[in-house]
Amino acid sequence: MKELGYYNGVVGELGEMTVPMNDRASWFGDGVYDAGLCRNYRLFNLDEHVDRLFRSASMLEIRVPVSKEELKTLLCDLVKKVDTGDTFVYCQVTRGGGPRMHCFPEGPANLWVTVTPRVMNTRPEPVSLITAEDTRFFHCDIKTLNLIPSVMANERAKRAGAYECVLYRPGGRVTECSHSNVHIIKDGVLYTAPADNLILAGITRAHLIAACGRLGIPVRETPFTVAELMAADEILTTSSSNLCNRACMVDGTEAGMKRPDLYEAIRDELMGEFLTETAAERESAE
Ligand code: PMP
Repeated sequence: MKELGYYNGVVGELGEMTVPMNDRASWFGDGVYDAGLCRNYRLFNLDEHVDRLFRSASMLEIRVPVSKEELKTLLCDLVKKVDTGDTFVYCQVTRGGGPRMHCFPEGPANLWVTVTPRVMNTRPEPVSLITAEDTRFFHCDIKTLNLIPSVMANERAKRAGAYECVLYRPGGRVTECSHSNVHIIKDGVLYTAPADNLILAGITRAHLIAACGRLGIPVRETPFTVAELMAADEILTTSSSNLCNRACMVDGTEAGMKRPDLYEAIRDELMGEFLTETAAERESAE
């Protein structure tokens, strides 16, 4: 199978799968999701992604129709059905189906999974960023399907030839990017926005903080502004699909790139973890 789709127990080629029109995803985007990488048929940070999916679901009172262990087993089985072991695994749970009514429907939630080929670029080039006001809601800590402002921001970045759009709230406080967290290094200290309701607490962000701990780089989980971003020694973005990117340009102005030693140490730590955890040898050793 080239690209896999799964919906409530039915498996097929993604492009040929159909879902009921009354799934709450189509009425309200009424669901939550999580996504991560798989390499050599090994799902990276699986426990953390499943935990976060269940946390997002419980914050919206959606009952995931399987247990955490059942979901992990299902995902491990599904990735094996795809021709390549290097994939992006996406999982979403929607609040069941029924007529378009705001109040919750009766009946179980729906479980969706897609598995599509994706190879991690382990040596990414520095990227350009743009900035835009963060017009999202105040529940960015829940990984819901409602991503319209993020979609618009990312398209703006693409049209500007940039990789990502850094979002800031009125007053200039940087929150995160359209689909990544953003962090700065200044005078040897890593600053990252606190994991409150204005950002998604990225799994890669947590690994970045742990990596800094191992490297002896102090971390401050404290808000920083666009002005501080522009003046930073390094600007890093993190996400499960790209792990760690380094920015060289913000809104067309050169920025960051002043502490290659720290950037490389952090990147090697994060990439090393990914490559070790998903190494093929481990699979055959089990
Ligand atoms: N913020 C947003 C808005 C995201 O969509 C993502 C991607 N999941 C992230 C941050 C990074 O999170 P993670 O490292 O868990 O992929």
